[in-house]
Amino acid sequence: MSKDAPSSALPTHRAQPDAQGFFGQFGGSFIPPELQAQMDEINHAYQRISRSYDFIQELRSIRQHFQGRPTPVYYCKNLSNKIDGARIYLKREDLNHTGAHKLNHCMGEALLAKYLGKKKLIAETGAGQHGVALATAGAYFGIPVEIHMGEVDIAKEYPNVVRMKILGAKVVPVSKGLKTLKEAVGSAFEAYLADPVNSIYCIGSVVGPHPFPLMVREFQRVVGIEAREQFLEMTGELPDNVVACVGGGSNAMGIFSGFLDDPVELHGVEPLGRGVKLGDHAASLSYGSEGVMHGFNSIMLKDESGAPGPVHSVASGLDYPSVGPEHAYLKSIGRTQVGTATDTEAIDAFFRLSRLEGIIPAVESAHAVAYTIKLAKERPTQNILVNLSGRGDKDIDFIMQNFGEYADRDY
Ligand SMILES: *Cc1c(COP(=O)(O)O)cnc(C)c1O
Repeated sequence: MSKDAPSSALPTHRAQPDAQGFFGQFGGSFIPPELQAQMDEINHAYQRISRSYDFIQELRSIRQHFQGRPTPVYYCKNLSNKIDGARIYLKREDLNHTGAHKLNHCMGEALLAKYLGKKKLIAETGAGQHGVALATAGAYFGIPVEIHMGEVDIAKEYPNVVRMKILGAKVVPVSKGLKTLKEAVGSAFEAYLADPVNSIYCIGSVVGPHPFPLMVREFQRVVGIEAREQFLEMTGELPDNVVACVGGGSNAMGIFSGFLDDPVELHGVEPLGRGVKLGDHAASLSYGSEGVMHGFNSIMLKDESGAPGPVHSVASGLDYPSVGPEHAYLKSIGRTQVGTATDTEAIDAFFRLSRLEGIIPAVESAHAVAYTIKLAKERPTQNILVNLSGRGDKDIDFIMQNFGEYADRDY
């Protein structure tokens, strides 16, 4: 590029990450050498295949005919009027097949596996949402799926275990250590390393070693591309603000990536749980510090020994002690704002959206709605587009058992 090239020729955010998987200082690949060879293989295959005409056409067809995309953008007239603040719009990922955004990257990962001739999809799951989405993709492609899940989580998230079994996935119980997500990750990696030629590891968010944060973002990008076009068509302008909840960060990166080069404020919302004390929340970007976990460098919550810290959130899809490296990077350069919503703010928003709009959100997505309600009051002349990452059917029993009194309130 000549030195007087116009600024529009500067690399856009899509140029991230670099060839080693770094977004600024964050990301990369911090894994044992034997695993690195496998990651390199996945990376090369992804770079080659995902840009081929056949792959792109097949994924487009799947999104339209199987997933039901594009999902709509919806104006929340009642909620907006009630708040008397900003105009609030939702990107309805709750209407994506299986009821959440996760199927977007699972179908992409499974399609890549099909092109590579893989015979098995392997993953871990915590709450079971990623397991269900991957089991769905496996059923679609006729590729066997093996989901590793801690025994504690199996007992806690039984309905999702049943869904995975109905869809034909093999659920492998993990009985080591605390029998939860961390041990399940180890177990899934072990199974993958035992047969990397015939199997492929499918991650559940924009986390893990390179190339996963890149791959998952690119498969989720469809959310942002659709939403930008739909919002422009509906209103004739861009949104002033885009809001999404952040666990690992995949639904947020999906919608953010449609607006990174626009003059639009991007807000990631982390779960503040019961409060700011370590162990009471999972707001990694807000309260964490730099460190390596699960094969990548990012901002994470640590205990006194520097190990991944204890986390809590009412939303099991958000209780992760680190965050996707691109989020750490975008925050560090000031491109994104990071806000929070507590457990009770999220529950209040869960009921508010249900009552006022007839939409029961996932308790994860309710964090984004809760923050949006606060933002809408501060910015009455603006508009806000929220990524409603999933529907709340999975949460209704838990919420009525633990927060039933909210159902008797007026909204
Ligand atoms: C898993 C999940 C999330 C959190 O994951 P991200 O990678 O941060 O998007 C958010 N919403 C729903 C509905 C989920 O199932």
